[in-house]
Amino acid sequence: MYPNYLFRRPGYTRRPGNSEGKCKFCKLLKENNWSIIFKNEKVFSVVNLHPYNEGHILLLPVRHVIDPRELTEDETKEFYRIMNSLLNVLQEVYKTDSFNIGFNLGNASGATYQHLHLHIIPRWLGDSGFVEATSMTKVLKESPKETKNKLVKAIKKMVIK
Ligand SMILES: [Zn+2]
Repeated sequence: MYPNYLFRRPGYTRRPGNSEGKCKFCKLLKENNWSIIFKNEKVFSVVNLHPYNEGHILLLPVRHVIDPRELTEDETKEFYRIMNSLLNVLQEVYKTDSFNIGFNLGNASGATYQHLHLHIIPRWLGDSGFVEATSMTKVLKESPKETKNKLVKAIKKMVIK
């Protein structure tokens, strides 16, 4: 918390390049990459290869858009419908009802890739321990491949389409 705030309007800038042709996420989808845990006509989901926690996944629209305001009404509905289903899957698999969920939009936000993606990160009380606090190293109990296998199994079982 800051004692004082100064309000001003920064300009909205877009990074040049990072178009559909060069997009890492469009490429994953085209290649049917192993990291994909769910895919339908409008949205898809992948495990994050640099997870903040076990079960860290990304949800993306199939169409290459960079801002949620560019999604059609149908895409928006589908995006949140599948987000809710994936939360149920993560809750079932990882036994938690705590999550961090968020978008990074624009260069200043730290967004690495422009294709819109929602981070969904399961959380547990005390999930950041001594090693994390002192050594810039995250301790994980499973690899992204193990996460993928667990989640694909649960998605099938829970019949998400
Ligand atoms: Zn893309």
